[in-house]
Amino acid sequence: MNANPTLIVGSLAFDDLEMPSGTFDNVVGGAATYSSIAASLLCPVRLVGVVGKDFPGEVLDSLRARGVDTAGVERAEGRTFRWHGRYSADLSSRTTLDTQLNVFADFRPKIPTAFSTSPFVLLGNIHPALQLEVLAQIERPQLVIADTMNFWIAGEPKLLGEVLKKIDLLVINDEEARDLSGIHNLVKAAADIRRRGPKHLIIKRGEHGALFFDDAGVFFAPGYPLEDVVDPTGAGDSFAGGLIGYIARAKNLAHPTMRRAIYFGSALGSFCVEGIGPRRLLEVTRADLQKRMDAFMALVETGGPVELPE
Ligand code: AMP
Repeated sequence: MNANPTLIVGSLAFDDLEMPSGTFDNVVGGAATYSSIAASLLCPVRLVGVVGKDFPGEVLDSLRARGVDTAGVERAEGRTFRWHGRYSADLSSRTTLDTQLNVFADFRPKIPTAFSTSPFVLLGNIHPALQLEVLAQIERPQLVIADTMNFWIAGEPKLLGEVLKKIDLLVINDEEARDLSGIHNLVKAAADIRRRGPKHLIIKRGEHGALFFDDAGVFFAPGYPLEDVVDPTGAGDSFAGGLIGYIARAKNLAHPTMRRAIYFGSALGSFCVEGIGPRRLLEVTRADLQKRMDAFMALVETGGPVELPE
């Protein structure tokens, strides 16, 4: 594939999901799983994470079949990381009922030598100390994107501050942006966060789209309107995978590339929520992705110059 490889580090998991449509146990998930599946439609992926003895080999086989190099996925003694979440009736919010770290508790990312020169890097939502360990093991990439969550914002602010100084793009949701900055207004919050390190910032607003902040100002991409949202789990990670996958394929970091990458991320997030766990995402082809991008562009096309009529 004519694209730069992307290194993705993060969780591989079993999720127990409670949704208004029913309860689904032992769903294969994890942030790195979703990001890898999404990114692999656009570029070769190098995955680093840990699974337990209970993780199905067929899942790793299916990732490999998509061009994901799993040489960095360690199989440790013990059980795979497990997350149990419950969604609200309208699927717009969720509560974590249980997190079992299992093999993730002792996870120390080991970046295979062959991965250490990866030009594009996605640091999934893991302990900021581990994100720093990854960065210490690699040569300076062209672009480092990181995700984080409230848990680390509240619990590890100093280490997270170190991460912010070393990354190029932070991808978080609106609640996390407010928690991280202590500022309610998202434009002001973004300016505060960018002052701490990342020159680029994306604030995700779920079905309401995503805001992108850089030196050029603010850019907005809506969420793709769907009739049936089945399971929002992994949407943010699929967004991040699509985003970095597109940039890796475009091989440049110009502002227009970033704008288009955000649309690709949104499109992949929209596919993700159409099925339980990664089920739908796994069946999406490059042709499906192009079709959704065309529909997405038609959605925001005004059909003419936006000028005040005489
Ligand atoms: P998202 O819906 O994009 O936020 O991603 C949900 C995925 O993140 C699920 O598949 C979970 O297994 C995984 N996840 C949930 N909590 C954590 C955590 N504390 N650390 C790493 N991964 C997590």
